[in-house]
Amino acid sequence: MDKLHSFAWYAARIAPKLPKKAFKPVPGRLWGGLAYLLIVIAGFLTIGLFQLHPFLYLGIAIVLGTSFAAMGFLGHEILHGTVVRKPWLRDLLGAIAFWPLSTGPKLWRKWHNLTHHVHTQHEEHDPDSWPTLERLSKTKLLRWIYRLPHGVRAFASFASLTVMFSLHSAKMFVAYIKEFKPKQKRSVWMQLILPWVFWFSLLFIMGPVKWFFAFLLPLLIANAIVMGYISTNHRLNPITEVNDPLANSLTVTVPKWVDVLHFNFSYHTEHHLFPGMSSKYYPLVKEHIKTMWPDRYHEMPIGKALVALWKTPRVYFEGNQLIDPKQGHVYATLGHGLDISNITYRKLSAKDSVVRIMKKKKVELGRVMKGDKRV
Ligand SMILES: [Zn+2]
Ligand SMILES: [Zn+2]
Repeated sequence: MDKLHSFAWYAARIAPKLPKKAFKPVPGRLWGGLAYLLIVIAGFLTIGLFQLHPFLYLGIAIVLGTSFAAMGFLGHEILHGTVVRKPWLRDLLGAIAFWPLSTGPKLWRKWHNLTHHVHTQHEEHDPDSWPTLERLSKTKLLRWIYRLPHGVRAFASFASLTVMFSLHSAKMFVAYIKEFKPKQKRSVWMQLILPWVFWFSLLFIMGPVKWFFAFLLPLLIANAIVMGYISTNHRLNPITEVNDPLANSLTVTVPKWVDVLHFNFSYHTEHHLFPGMSSKYYPLVKEHIKTMWPDRYHEMPIGKALVALWKTPRVYFEGNQLIDPKQGHVYATLGHGLDISNITYRKLSAKDSVVRIMKKKKVELGRVMKGDKRV
């Protein structure tokens, strides 16, 4: 593998080739947001005011769920400052777009912009990265999960995508709230509480059955859609010491109309190169990456990425491999031999068996992580 480079290194080489307008905010994206907002309001009114067949409610719930997810994608873009530049307006519009997912703009910017983007795929500092074998050995719950057979685990982890964004968001609130200054803390709390006051008021107004179709089921659908992308963003890539988006990120491909509905959220490597650029221009960035560094760039259809996720474990081993600790099966990551059309594994030798590795002291474990053959 060639030397890793930071996202700024790549951005500096592509930026001169892009038109000036690519670096300007694109407020026109808000029309899409307005369309979704109107669909959501119409959906709430239809469910709230009319007694319909449950199948019709189900249909509306699916439309609402896809709209919630799309609003989340737009919220992500807005809070990167690529739609409007004024901070108060950016946060207000971001709060509206993230309202269904109930993630506050201040928390999101801290967690996503200032931490995930800066420390992508860093084993300790990226709040969205998956555990290494070392971390696994210290967490009872994860160890228990990894004792389950692969099929059960894969099914459970795919099922959990329907709640994962909301759960992770709550976890991020707990992790970051103490890092805000006392003055900001109040607004971070308000940004968490207000959406939930709204959703529980809706429950009170509509009653539980209608609320299930208007909010709860759409929320699960939105979680699944959003996590369907997020889970493919970095999880087939290695942990990297340098934040190199071409090594640690994956762009998935979806039909053109899906890209239109989801504001080009599929272009994740491009997004990590230019997080402050409207996703409208990512297809152009992609063309340049593919001409300049074709061997380093990773892209695949989203369906294939999800199948690869199903077939591989989620614990990192020596940074650029994935391990199933129970079986001692070791899989490659993207750029390190992972072939998504033929996923294979190697078996750890008895001497390296995971039980033995996990029993070792931290200092010795560190050596295993770095691939020291003496252990
Ligand atoms: Zn990312
Ligand atoms: Zn981002």
